Amino acid sequence: METYYGIAVSPGIFIGPAFVLDDARRSIPRRHVPAAGVTRQLERLERALVKSVDDLSRVQADVASSLGKDAAAIFGFHIGMLSDEAVLGPIRDMIQSDRTTAEYAAHRVFGEWAERFGAMPDDSFRTKVTDLNDLSARVISHLAGDRADRLQHLDYSAGVVATELTPSQTVAFDREHVHALATDFGGLTSHMSIVARALGIPAVVGCGALSPNVTDETMLVIDGDEGLVVVDPDEQTLADFEREREQRRVYQLSLNELAELEAVTTDGVRIELHGNIEFPDEISDIIEKGGLGVGLYRTEFLYLTREREPTETEHFEAYKKCVELLDGRPLTIRTVDLGADKYTQSQAENPERNPFLGLRSIRYCLKNIPMFKTQLRAILRASALGPVRMMFPLITSLSELRQARYLVHDVMEDLAEEGVAFDRNVPMGMMVEVPSAAIQSAAFAREADFFSVGTNDLVQYTLAVDRTNERVAGLFNPQHPAVLKLIRDVVRSARRRDIPVSCCGESAGSLGFSLLLVGLGLRTLSVPSGGIPRLKRLFRSVDGTTCERIARRAISFDSDIEVSAYLRDQLRKLLPDPQGPRGGV
Ligand code: PEP
Ligand code: MG
Repeated sequence: METYYGIAVSPGIFIGPAFVLDDARRSIPRRHVPAAGVTRQLERLERALVKSVDDLSRVQADVASSLGKDAAAIFGFHIGMLSDEAVLGPIRDMIQSDRTTAEYAAHRVFGEWAERFGAMPDDSFRTKVTDLNDLSARVISHLAGDRADRLQHLDYSAGVVATELTPSQTVAFDREHVHALATDFGGLTSHMSIVARALGIPAVVGCGALSPNVTDETMLVIDGDEGLVVVDPDEQTLADFEREREQRRVYQLSLNELAELEAVTTDGVRIELHGNIEFPDEISDIIEKGGLGVGLYRTEFLYLTREREPTETEHFEAYKKCVELLDGRPLTIRTVDLGADKYTQSQAENPERNPFLGLRSIRYCLKNIPMFKTQLRAILRASALGPVRMMFPLITSLSELRQARYLVHDVMEDLAEEGVAFDRNVPMGMMVEVPSAAIQSAAFAREADFFSVGTNDLVQYTLAVDRTNERVAGLFNPQHPAVLKLIRDVVRSARRRDIPVSCCGESAGSLGFSLLLVGLGLRTLSVPSGGIPRLKRLFRSVDGTTCERIARRAISFDSDIEVSAYLRDQLRKLLPDPQGPRGGV
């Protein structure tokens, strides 16, 4: 039995077998397979070889027709190696005698060949080392693809253990069989973590060397409240976690009873609690938990769940579904926020050196205007069906907001000419998630119809802490006085111009921070649906004046550590059992 500690990102306890997904680009651990699994590994190897030879034959034919036979000859060497028994025999032997995975055996044997070639005195052999490394990568990537495909059609209910997961991998999982996630890398606000919360499955990220030490079907406990993973738990540990899981279930049921009640403080301050969604289906859960609407719809997931760009009809159908499910409650549709850790296939093929500071979000949309206008048309059409607001992400300068609004007006004119219905007064707001927008919030408040503070990015950009990097996760602190001062200024600017302001970052769902937000004057919070009940419980037991006092004191500290300690202390006084039987994210 071994316990790995990581970052708790999505609550709940999973107990069951593992399915492991390695990232072949990083490392290929030596993993043993059971005797019964050897044939499967041999079959996987054969499939990967056939696919690799197919790829290479296609490339060879293309190169022969464009550059001539001589240039294409190199691919003859590649194809030859993939059918050479001197290479394939040792790979098959290793799988059989050492009972290792096909990935590991291919990696080792190709590596040995590369070493042999590299040590030869003749230059013409040494230049083949790169070719061998390429071949190895090609075969291994087909083996990895085979694993990823299997994950979409698993034949047992598993907790997925991976080096790292992208949001698009996470949304593609077989939801019937994937019941929890645990990764070696990642942070609380990485979008993979956000998807895990959306799917309502326990998840722990940043566990260090977890994945190399787990094999398919190893028994696991993944505790998404405490942020730990137990590999091969003993009987006693299993029994403890089963009891704990039951206690949490009962506690959750007791919280859900608050759904019908308002989030109102003991002195009558009303807090509007909305939900964040990535998929329209999440709306029923928000309503069930007593949320008043959707404060953030991350529409980029329409791109991440398909191979190609969604059409206007696909956008519109998704928005229409949301409006219908919300039945008169407000829907805030954020225009696509692609880039950084959420990328399409074409973005993945041209990776940026520093994607969080690159062509992401509104910048990407303003460079891809036809794509952007397709989405704007669909949002406007949906605005004719119910209360819809439109929100632009990652606005850093006024000119971006103006361009985005200009494009919306342009699309409005097209729709009007075509006689298509839309709401001409659809509110057009912006996320405040970079320091420049917060510092200039007074100017933005003159031109935006509303603000929503996105603390996931605001913290990342203010404190220079990568939100997806477990190594600096301890520095990602929304309670940092610099962040609090920015939020205070944004709220003031919004109030002066009398425009709505909310907060939709993940930390709005954490108990201590939400007290601060209310104390700073926020009255609308949008959080993952799972967080709504415990916020209701919290607000119904505090008074607004206390929140203001706490915020005033917190913002007066110079250090984030002092703020955090102070908040923990205040929260303990207000709610002796703040998060139920276990931690809670
Ligand atoms: C944020 O940055 O706080 C936010 C809500 O947007 P996202 O997490 O999608 O970047
Ligand atoms: Mg953001």
